[in-house]
Amino acid sequence: MPLASVPIEALPTRSTTRVRVFLDRGDSGTLVPSAVASSPELVLFDLDDTLFDHSLTCRAALARLQVQTPAFATRPLDDLWREYLRLLDSQSSGVASPPALYADRRAERFRRLAARCGWKMAAGEAREISARYRDHYQRLRRPVPGAVALVRRVARRARVGVITNNEYAEQEEKLRFLGLSQLVDPLIVSARERVAKPDARIFRIALERADARASATVMVGDSWTNDVLGARGAGIRPVWFNRFSVRPPTRHRVEEIRSFRPTGPVEALLDPATRRRPLTHSAARPSAA
Ligand SMILES: [Mg+2]
Repeated sequence: MPLASVPIEALPTRSTTRVRVFLDRGDSGTLVPSAVASSPELVLFDLDDTLFDHSLTCRAALARLQVQTPAFATRPLDDLWREYLRLLDSQSSGVASPPALYADRRAERFRRLAARCGWKMAAGEAREISARYRDHYQRLRRPVPGAVALVRRVARRARVGVITNNEYAEQEEKLRFLGLSQLVDPLIVSARERVAKPDARIFRIALERADARASATVMVGDSWTNDVLGARGAGIRPVWFNRFSVRPPTRHRVEEIRSFRPTGPVEALLDPATRRRPLTHSAARPSAA
């Protein structure tokens, strides 16, 4: 699911954990839990907007930029943010590119963003503004609420890995910022592997590096296409981190988490062995599009 499709009005205003375990209707017509009953050997997480709060860091950095650069304030912050995420998605291939191109792409994003605000920005200005944005982004970045605590708890019982689409150095640094580098192995980054989610090959690379079976692995991520459908394509059980409560775009049934706080119910969904008492869950029909 493109980040730009996140409905801003749906942003959570408080930290609540909602775990929905969708039930699957078997051939007999009987409803059966779709959750796997055994402990996973490996729990894979996506990084951006699952562990690292990329979207809201972008929004905060753009808000700072609007204060410094009034031309960007001609549009409401949420419009600017949506447009920026759209441009980012349109430029992301997930596979390797030279670092110099990475900076060029960012400058080009700001040139196009300025054009949307009626400002014909020169190439030098675009580089300067994009560097300023980058400084804001680095200073304002933050983890997704509850994500770090969850990974620490999961790592006590299972191996933890990350599969992410982006440049290696960028993603490795984000993991270090979160304080999770020592707990995550393997870290699988699309640019280094030269294959990106949702391609099943990148999930198989993670399984091979962790020496884990697909049937004993869980993948947690916010992207319907990259994480949910990608994991499913590799035979891995997906858990959708639907933080912004959007409707699933296809009719696939999936287990869904809307917040990582508190960690207990989420941990119990990922690893049933942690479940000391039955989960209170709603047997909701998948809200198919
Ligand atoms: Mg993501």
